[in-house]
Amino acid sequence: LTILGLESSCDDTAAAVVRQSGDSVPEILSSVVHGQTELHSAYGGVVPEIAARAHAEKLDLCVRQALDAAAISLSELDAIAVTAGPGLIGGVMSGVMCAKGIAAATGLPLIGVNHLAGHALTPRLTDQIDYPYLMLLVSGGHCQYLITQGPETFTRLGGTIDDAPGEAFDKTARLLGLPQPGGPSVEAEARAGDPKRFRFPRPLLDRPDCNLSFSGLKTALMRMRDQLVMDQGGLTRQDRADLCAGFQAAVVDTLAEKTRRALAIYMEQRPQHPVVAVAGGVAANTAIRAALESVCADQGALFVAPPLNLCTDNAAMIAYAGLERFRSGKVDGMDLSARPRWPLDQNSPALLGSGK
Ligand code: ATP
Ligand code: FE
Repeated sequence: LTILGLESSCDDTAAAVVRQSGDSVPEILSSVVHGQTELHSAYGGVVPEIAARAHAEKLDLCVRQALDAAAISLSELDAIAVTAGPGLIGGVMSGVMCAKGIAAATGLPLIGVNHLAGHALTPRLTDQIDYPYLMLLVSGGHCQYLITQGPETFTRLGGTIDDAPGEAFDKTARLLGLPQPGGPSVEAEARAGDPKRFRFPRPLLDRPDCNLSFSGLKTALMRMRDQLVMDQGGLTRQDRADLCAGFQAAVVDTLAEKTRRALAIYMEQRPQHPVVAVAGGVAANTAIRAALESVCADQGALFVAPPLNLCTDNAAMIAYAGLERFRSGKVDGMDLSARPRWPLDQNSPALLGSGK
């Protein structure tokens, strides 16, 4: 099967062609991503209207480039998959309209894909991984533990009750005057810092569930920063590094401990060959990866982290999620609609978690 995928739910316009023969590991024939960072940089965040216009302008080009790079024509495709939510509605609509246009012109089947399912299925795009596996999705907008039982069956064990970790890294960078995106700059500063000088809270660790909270870290950071400014008139390079190190250590500890709990719950279901996979941009963080790897090693689980370009938003994961849906006989009609909200676990057999 050969599928064209489209992604436009946030600030990346992307198209990709993915092929799979039988049960073999799928092949990414092409994956094109046009980011919009510079369009939004002056505003300190993604502006939905600007994003939607940029997607509408770039989608055609992305599709052309993805088909060219894969050296394939529309007539050689089996279906077209598109992110139908959740995300910024204007962007999602642009993608859905583009996919419908191609489907109408070619007669190809149309498949709507949940963006989060795309992230959750990513490890199967690069490795031979069987269901069920535990997925930790950690990105700029999301943070949740999902037992991935099938291409459309997810059990959510818990997740953040407020900010996503990527958002917390970005806010930390903003508060300390470091460049965006905040993740890489905070991680770089933290390398020269002492994680013990400032004591950040470890939110929700006193609760036995798999829920997390990150917004308190930002408040704590703000207080520490303001105190330093009051005491000494400003921040030294070392203060900044120590604050970053303290903040990052709190995120690492929280994710490690909650992962330990999620893994324990999942292992009751799957005691043999347990697998923990991560996706999302925050999975790029070396300290976070190392901590998760060590939790998995302790509990005898295999830790899988896809390459970074597949962890962040891309269309290969959408093409692959569409491929799995198509293989199970599911296609959508021209009435496919764009959905701003679309929780993953609404079809799950058991709802174990709560929160967003
Ligand atoms: P979503 O996919 O949930 O809609 P998004 O597109 O903003 O959100 P991603 O592209 O997956 O998320 O990831 C971007 C986020 O990852 C940013 O918040 C960024 O700061 C964070 N990030 C990137 N590299 C690192 C790092 N080394 N350490 C921590 N965070 C990082
Ligand atoms: Fe995403």
